[in-house]
Amino acid sequence: MTVPAPRELPVCNPRTGEPDCRIPVIGPAGIAALAVRLRANQMAWAAAGPAHRAEVVKAWSARLLAQPGPVLDALSVDTGRHLLALQEMNALRGMVAGNAALATTALVEPPERPSMTPGIHAQSQLVPYGLIGVISPWNFPFLLSMLDTIPALLAGCAVIVKPSEVTPRFIAPLMASLAEFPELAGVCSFITGDGSTGAALIRAVDGICFTGSVATGRKVAAACAEQFIPAFLELGGKDPAIVLASADPDRAAATVLRASVQATGQACQSIERVYVDARIRDEFLARLIAHAEAVSLNWPDSRRGQVGPLIFSRQAEIIAAQLADAVTKGARIETGGVIERHGGGYWLRPTVVTSVNHTMTLMSEETFGPVLPVMSFRDPGEAVQLANDSVYGLSAAVFGDEAQALAVARQLVAGAVSINDGALTTEVFDVDKNAFRLSGLGASRMGASGLLRFVRKKALLIQRGRAKDMHALEENASTDGG
Ligand code: NAD
Repeated sequence: MTVPAPRELPVCNPRTGEPDCRIPVIGPAGIAALAVRLRANQMAWAAAGPAHRAEVVKAWSARLLAQPGPVLDALSVDTGRHLLALQEMNALRGMVAGNAALATTALVEPPERPSMTPGIHAQSQLVPYGLIGVISPWNFPFLLSMLDTIPALLAGCAVIVKPSEVTPRFIAPLMASLAEFPELAGVCSFITGDGSTGAALIRAVDGICFTGSVATGRKVAAACAEQFIPAFLELGGKDPAIVLASADPDRAAATVLRASVQATGQACQSIERVYVDARIRDEFLARLIAHAEAVSLNWPDSRRGQVGPLIFSRQAEIIAAQLADAVTKGARIETGGVIERHGGGYWLRPTVVTSVNHTMTLMSEETFGPVLPVMSFRDPGEAVQLANDSVYGLSAAVFGDEAQALAVARQLVAGAVSINDGALTTEVFDVDKNAFRLSGLGASRMGASGLLRFVRKKALLIQRGRAKDMHALEENASTDGG
């Protein structure tokens, strides 16, 4: 029987709006064949031990980063940006080094020890999941494909990665780079496709790491529950920044702007709500608008300016709808606010909005654009209440005197809080954090737990005393079990 050729999908270029690329949509049969091959190699990979795996992964990443050209060029076309594509790739260095160092300590099986039950000794075996599926979004296509893949590989799993169909150009050169390391290519592969490919992948693996929207995350969690496999979900956010009266208004404004506008706001941890103490509100707002108006687009020269195009044209509709809803309900756009068309792409300058409230979708739903709605508060208690009034709990930021800021941060319902900075989770990969509320599910992907979530602990229980016989079950036996 011949397997039908996979259906193809067109892919749009974010800078031109042109569908200048097509990808095959890999289906269940293709995934099943790949899974068989990877599973067959995984046993030797697991048996080789963490030090060997770390060596192989390090060698591959060093080679890739020494000659990033083909992947970097493709990633730049995928995302319409250059500097961030380079930063995405360079983040691999620290990610590999950090996880490799952790792997050689966290994945060492502890020595045999006596259990609390007399005569019985215990060994622990760490058993990696055979095959992990990684499903990633379009906003940081390379980084978010690697963030779970690297620890899963180091833990001894095989991995199939399904990046977003919106940004798939980097997959082919990345596969070519993996092919130079056959041992690694034998346990790690990337596939192209859309949501149907992601859904089929869930049915072929032993665990899923998913990064994406809450709406898809719900479907993924349900499908994983059906399969009885773990789902590690990293989803959306509506991150608040609180600017206390003790903050330097200019510094806070400049930093909040950067943490909101970075990657054109297309980052889960970008600041999407700002609460500022009423006493410094006017000065903060004036500085925020001034800084926002000094920002320039990466257009027409992609190597100049700070803000790139929106990667996914549908995002422009979502942002425009949120702004329209806010204006209808009384909001005022202080600067920006107009989706611009340049060269076929969609662009938005940093947008500052005032007179906002929590009935507006701009304050409750993820925007994923460079938009900063600003509200004022009378005291830190009100700031905490406003910041926590959200279905999300990804991360947050607090600006001001460090002790005051930390006291506020401890009351926030969020997995990470940056103090006197914003979106620090993009720079720090070695500190454990969970996503709260709808922002995610499962163990931290950072720190040692990022590795340990890929292994199960098997208890080997050794009887060195006298094993119980049938006397232990005799109704009139003594109660000490003898
Ligand atoms: P998305 O949920 O639309 O898609 C993510 C991935 O899921 C894609 O690869 C897609 O093909 C796949 N998919 C779609 N339907 C599926 C299904 N039924 N089963 C399995 N896979 C399926 O997300 P997106 O629009 O690509 O990315 C943006 C979202 O990602 C935002 O909400 C953002 O906040 C979130 N995000 C979260 C983090 C984090 O670490 N928390 C990081 C980056 C992005």
